[in-house]
Amino acid sequence: MDMFTRLRTLVDLVVPADEFPSAGEAGGLDFLQRYLGERPDLWPRLTALLESAQPTAEPAWGWFAELVSAGFYADPANGANRDRMSWRMVGWAPEPAEGWSGPVPVPDVPPVTVSPDRLAIRYDAVVIGSGPGGGTTGCVLAEAGHRVLVVEAGSWPSTAELSRDHLRNPRSDWGLLPLSGPEDDHDLRVLETDGRARVLRPYEPGWANNAMTAGGGSRIYGAQAWRFEPRDFAMASTYGVPDGSSLADWPIGYGDLEAGYAQAERELGVAGSSVMPPVRTGPRHDLLRAAADRLGWSWVPVPLLVNSVPYDGRPACQGCRMCVGFACPVDAKAGSQNTVLRRAFATGRAEILLRTRAERLVVDDHGRVTGVALVGRTAAGQVWRTEVAAGAVVVAGGAVESARLLLNSAHPGEPTGLGNRSDQVGRHLQGHVYGGAVGLFADEVEDLIGPGPTLSSHDFRHGVAGIVGGGILVDEFIPLPANTYRMLAGSGLIPRWGKESKAGMRELSRRSLRVMGPIQEVTSALSRVRLDPSVTDALGVPVPRLSGDIHPCDQQAQAMIADRAAEWLTAAGATRTVVMAGTGAGPSAGQHQAGTCRMGTDPTTSVVDPECRVWGHDNVRVVDSSVHVTNGGVNPVLTVFANAFRVANQMTR
Ligand SMILES: Cc1cc2nc3c(=O)[nH]c(=O)nc-3n(C[C@H](O)[C@H](O)[C@H](O)COP(=O)(O)OP(=O)(O)OC[C@H]3O[C@@H](n4cnc5c(N)ncnc54)[C@H](O)[C@@H]3O)c2cc1C
Repeated sequence: MDMFTRLRTLVDLVVPADEFPSAGEAGGLDFLQRYLGERPDLWPRLTALLESAQPTAEPAWGWFAELVSAGFYADPANGANRDRMSWRMVGWAPEPAEGWSGPVPVPDVPPVTVSPDRLAIRYDAVVIGSGPGGGTTGCVLAEAGHRVLVVEAGSWPSTAELSRDHLRNPRSDWGLLPLSGPEDDHDLRVLETDGRARVLRPYEPGWANNAMTAGGGSRIYGAQAWRFEPRDFAMASTYGVPDGSSLADWPIGYGDLEAGYAQAERELGVAGSSVMPPVRTGPRHDLLRAAADRLGWSWVPVPLLVNSVPYDGRPACQGCRMCVGFACPVDAKAGSQNTVLRRAFATGRAEILLRTRAERLVVDDHGRVTGVALVGRTAAGQVWRTEVAAGAVVVAGGAVESARLLLNSAHPGEPTGLGNRSDQVGRHLQGHVYGGAVGLFADEVEDLIGPGPTLSSHDFRHGVAGIVGGGILVDEFIPLPANTYRMLAGSGLIPRWGKESKAGMRELSRRSLRVMGPIQEVTSALSRVRLDPSVTDALGVPVPRLSGDIHPCDQQAQAMIADRAAEWLTAAGATRTVVMAGTGAGPSAGQHQAGTCRMGTDPTTSVVDPECRVWGHDNVRVVDSSVHVTNGGVNPVLTVFANAFRVANQMTR
């Protein structure tokens, strides 16, 4: 049998024909060719499988089966889901049930960009990173009359690009670069686990990606918009400091952020807050709400940075099924790029420099920060470097990259990194360990009304016996078919391949529900970002090396929240539940990364003061999730926005 025929046979073994076509008939070979075009390093793996006398032997077969299935259940543009065959089979479509009420995607509003050769010599403020922290600070400063340069490592992709691909978004995890960045697979990081260091590319687990694109994570996030609560700012006082942890209180309390939370909710627009009603719900919400009532649990609607009604010049959500991980096709989701950054540009005093990395902060002979050193690539691929002078510098690159930047900014007065006299930069790296469960039901329960999250129980956020902290539970975003496959196969609810796998997808896709939640992590000083001593990225900048682990308390909290999720689903009528717990090796970080430039009142145990000024540098502020002392038992972004408003308002006073 020639190789082509053999490959076709194997592809059809993974997804065989029944009343619906096989993977081969749906375009599986085209898909594999395209996929391996992007991942040529995997050709030998495929060749070995094809040449093997026992191709279905694990682990190679499991990899192949998952890959072929991913293509089969992904969007048709990936080549293996011709005419949406698999989507029709599982009863899924990206559009809202009623169809779009107008053309999508709506036209993009172009940013005000500047090219490297047109940079001013000096700006009042240079903001590094255009995510929630950087965008908000840039906006407040520009509106107060300051000249602002925002520097962003990523580009500004169109909504059309960011609203379709099921295999290249930050929630897909299929070994391909996400379209929301990083764009270069030479953007390396090093992960140290059990004394062994591995160099990782951005699509590998453990790289700890959020997003690297204009708007940062908020361009494509899920937009859950929770406030931390008072105990989240006082974890050490509430629970003590567990052995082996660096748990601490914030130097500010809930009251200090309350005005910032209200400003963020009002100025960005949060559905389910006092600003506008929650997004539309359906039978799934009713089912889970009734179950919570039966259990005697309290519940609240999920606040989302998504318009439920027209707001701030942008339309209401139409309820499509591709929210988390994607740009919103109708621009109903509020992110940094279509709210605060847009306002900053409207002043005429702010511009954004895209595809450019702040390499280090420039320090003069007196140890004062005077500007920022920038590095990028021309369209022809040539590396360029320049410096801009800045009255103030705002660091907002996300928790991993902000720490990297300060460490890369070592100078004679601070030879181990700017703000790092006490060896605190990069420590206390944290994110959110998630726990949850999937439930199978006798009837269809997935109503496919996007975005998905509609109600949440907060009964386990604090005060659970034997648990430090805790977390919330929320019904999940509408899953993509490829992700449903991975979830059902990963929990052993369907086989990875074959007739039963396909039949399982058909039968269970809409008869399964997931309830998940983040838990508040117990921080450790050993979970950290350092600079790797030898690895650099494609621009020659030393890369972050991540090391450490989660604290044992986190596993307890995760198990607790997963059990409560299963209990909720059972009360809702699930005939079977599978809990989802467990973590990969290494520190927690990823999409909710935080903590690496801890805020405090003591320069020997923190990096920034309560106004987020780097100790010893009154014109340098860190204004992103890096400053979070602890990260709450809820998604963190509203706190990033709120703190940025607080700090930026202080800067303009
Ligand atoms: C798929 C997904 C879903 C999410 N869902 C939610 C949710 O529902 N609710 C929630 O609360 N949070 C959610 N998050 C997390 C949320 O997006 C982050 O908490 C938030 O974006 C953090 O904001 P930030 O300003 O700290 O940093 P970021 O958003 O990470 O922005 C940092 C920016 O700085 C740029 N940058 C970094 N280093 C440099 C440098 N040296 N020079 C120039 N630019 C640089 C990066 O490219 C990036 O664009 C989600 C994230 C993802 C990816």
